[in-house]
Amino acid sequence: MKFNISEKYNEPLEVAIEAVRQACIITKNIQKKLKKSEIETKADSSPVTIADYAAQAIILNHLNHKLEKNYTVIAEEDISSLELRHNKNLLSRIVEETKSIWPGVTNKKILESINSGSLISNENRFWTLDPVDGTKGFIRKQQYSISLALIENGSVEMGILGCPNIEVPTKNLDRMTEGYGTIFFSLKGHGCHQISLNSSNLKIQKIVARSVSEASELVACESVESMHSRINMGGKIIQAVGSRQKPIRADSQCKYAMVAIGAADIYLRLPTNPNYEEKIWDHAAGKIIAEEAGAIVSDIRGNRLRFDQGATLKQNEGIACSIKEYHRTLIDNIDHYM
Ligand code: AMP
Ligand code: MG
Repeated sequence: MKFNISEKYNEPLEVAIEAVRQACIITKNIQKKLKKSEIETKADSSPVTIADYAAQAIILNHLNHKLEKNYTVIAEEDISSLELRHNKNLLSRIVEETKSIWPGVTNKKILESINSGSLISNENRFWTLDPVDGTKGFIRKQQYSISLALIENGSVEMGILGCPNIEVPTKNLDRMTEGYGTIFFSLKGHGCHQISLNSSNLKIQKIVARSVSEASELVACESVESMHSRINMGGKIIQAVGSRQKPIRADSQCKYAMVAIGAADIYLRLPTNPNYEEKIWDHAAGKIIAEEAGAIVSDIRGNRLRFDQGATLKQNEGIACSIKEYHRTLIDNIDHYM
């Protein structure tokens, strides 16, 4: 696919979309048949699956080979557990699942590719990747996303968000669905666009968030995992803003996409633990997708998200994303209750 959106970014955008598309297809295949033995627990107790590793390997390999100029990729996964001898089986499964799009792939190439990601960057231009965001949703056969963004001087300039279980216009949002899949992409100042994951339909469509005249119509979305956001407090705040609709619960940055396509109007993430620092790869792509569709994204105090602080948003507190007309009211109500 060729783009003619911005001379500076046409080439990286094209390469990044293709990388995310490949990872969407491979992970969606894995999701259908994932076995318990293909899931591990990381040191921080969060799960990781062969799909997380496969997606990171595919995307980094594609970027490393196709981009004219390479920059560090701050990426979530590392190879420490895959390198252990007893994990040879997992590695072979990853090779098996990726070989359809990666001719000549080997165990060694998978490890090298995953390992080419980093947790730090000394440059002021770098990429950030969450190969499978919402791994818990992925395992439950629900929503997950593949998230890749380009950051320059602390600002997200480009975001690509693969949502393999979302179809526009939306039908069901709560589970894995055969035939569904959308890639959202935004370049700063150029709006938000979507293309279908189905390669027979390559039409690029511009998307915009909803406009809501009655506060009672506002639909909010929030995490499925109650450890990731204060769900009860969120409910109270959304009611105070005026919403009378049932919130949507979904995993991953798909929530930003839901606001972008008008399936939801507010995405609230209220910290459950004051010491937790949000990871940049959990928000960079989603933020620019929602913003370029016309929504406002800030932390819960109304401050802009700071992507110039390393791998985390250490200067920020939670997330408050809303369609324009209600962002101020949302922040005022958060201040009142928290
Ligand atoms: P979600 O699917 O929106 O609930 O968010 C998934 C992300 O939450 C994962 O990618 C984790 O990086 C992140 N996460 C893990 N622990 C926490 C926590 N205590 N608070 C907020 N986010 C967390
Ligand atoms: Mg994540």
